[in-house]
Amino acid sequence: MNFKSFSFAPEILRAIDECGYTELSPIQQLAIPHIRRGHDVLANAQTGTGKTAAFALPILQKLIDNPSERIASNAKVLVLAPTRELAEQIANSFERYGQYLDIKVAAIYGGVSHKGQANKLKDGADIIVATPGRLLEHIQMCNVSLSHVNFLVLDEADRMLDMGFINDIKQLMAAVNDERQTLLFSATYPSAMKKFSASVLKQPKIVQA
Ligand code: AMP
Repeated sequence: MNFKSFSFAPEILRAIDECGYTELSPIQQLAIPHIRRGHDVLANAQTGTGKTAAFALPILQKLIDNPSERIASNAKVLVLAPTRELAEQIANSFERYGQYLDIKVAAIYGGVSHKGQANKLKDGADIIVATPGRLLEHIQMCNVSLSHVNFLVLDEADRMLDMGFINDIKQLMAAVNDERQTLLFSATYPSAMKKFSASVLKQPKIVQA
C-alpha cells in the first residue's frame, strides 16, 4: 500500500516524496484510515514505528479539507508530548510534511523563557505541540485559548502519566472542544492507562502495530 491510496493532497504527497517514504509503515496502514474517517484512535505503538506521520499526515489533510474552520489565530490541533525533545521532533515533522501548505506550528515546552513562545502563540498557530505544564502556564497567562481545538493527540501517553502529568492533561482537556477527535498513542497499556484512555476517548478504534 502506498501513500497515493489515501488520496492525500498533492502538496502532502510532494513532501512525503521528498522525505523518501515509499511504503506506509504498519502503524500508518492501520491508523490513517480510521483517522481520515473521523474516529478516535487508541494506538499501541513504539517510538521508531512511524507513528508521528501516522497522525500528522491525516491531520494536515483534514486542515486542507476544512479551510473554513481555519480561523486565523485559533489553534485547531493540539499535540501533547512528555518531553521537550519529543515536542520539538513532532513540531519539526509537522513543518516538514506541511512545508507546501500555509500552516503555522508552535512548539511549546518548559526550560526556556516564556516570551518567545508567548509571541508565537499570540501570532496565531494552527498546530500547537506542547508539554502539558508549560502550555497550562501560557493559558493562565492568557497567551492562548484552546477553545477551537478539535484534534487532540496524546503522544507517548504512558510516559506522560508516569511523569505525573495527569492533572495538567485533565485541565487541558477541559479547555478543548468537547466534539474533538482524540488520538492516543502509547507504547504500553497498564491499568492506569486503560482507565485514562476510557475517560478521554469516545468509541475508539484500537490499533496495534
Ligand atoms: P517516529 O516513529 O514517528 O519517530 O518515526 C521514526 C522514523 O521513521 C522517522 O525518522 C521518520 O522520518 C521515519 N518514517 C516515518 N514514516 C516512514 C515511512 N513510511 N517510510 C520510511 N520512513 C518513515
